[in-house]
Amino acid sequence: MSSARDPVWLIVVAAGKGERLGAEEPKAFLDLCGHPVFAYGVEAACASGAVSRILVVADPALAWPATGRLTEASRRLLHGACRGGAQRHDSVREGLRVVRAAVRASKRAERDPVVLVHDAARPFAPPELFARMAFAAARGPALCVRLIADTVKEVEGDRVRRSVPRASLVLAQTPQGARLSLLERAHDAAPAEGVTDDAMLLESLGEPVAAVPGADMNFKITTPDDFRMAEAWVRAGGAPWMS
Ligand code: C5P
Repeated sequence: MSSARDPVWLIVVAAGKGERLGAEEPKAFLDLCGHPVFAYGVEAACASGAVSRILVVADPALAWPATGRLTEASRRLLHGACRGGAQRHDSVREGLRVVRAAVRASKRAERDPVVLVHDAARPFAPPELFARMAFAAARGPALCVRLIADTVKEVEGDRVRRSVPRASLVLAQTPQGARLSLLERAHDAAPAEGVTDDAMLLESLGEPVAAVPGADMNFKITTPDDFRMAEAWVRAGGAPWMS
């Protein structure tokens, strides 16, 4: 069991190309109302007070100049940036390697820190969510979730096969987290295709994964409409930790 002073790492995966957004730059580095998209998660994690080291997974040539736009408090937590991989889980694995190397090099006793993984493309995970997830992941693998408001259907092509009772269904968000050794084991066993989050790899190991309440606006920017919605939400005061 961890103590309140155990180090908590945050890996911010920002190495996606964001092709569905159709922008010239990767979406994590687009300017969202005066800040790069990835900075929202980094600043929220810093404001939470629950995260002690932050690693950004993205081409350092892009990431380093962008980290200059973070607050001094966030830059103090920054471990650095490392290149990602072809798919999201490849990028997470690269991040885990860097964390492992840092832990080995550290003189601290803690060999198996909590690691949270967060999508840079989700700018609206608030500080209290990072705190909640750090607390949960110290006790066991955890992800944050959102209830489904719509009716859910299973379809085949353009035909409905059935309605799916939604009472036990949720949508997976990030941050997600677990101890470093467990995340390493989960990612080492990852299949080549079809991995869209970290929790599904932990589930495949047979690990119980806690579902923690997420945040309604913690959506992932994927399309141009998502980006416009994100801009509107920032202008409406939806990311108060950035001001
Ligand atoms: O592609 P998708 O929107 O699902 O990506 C989710 C997060 O994973 C984004 O923050 C993206 O930058 C990151 N990612 C990554 N490396 C990849 C693909 C996605 O770091 N190869």
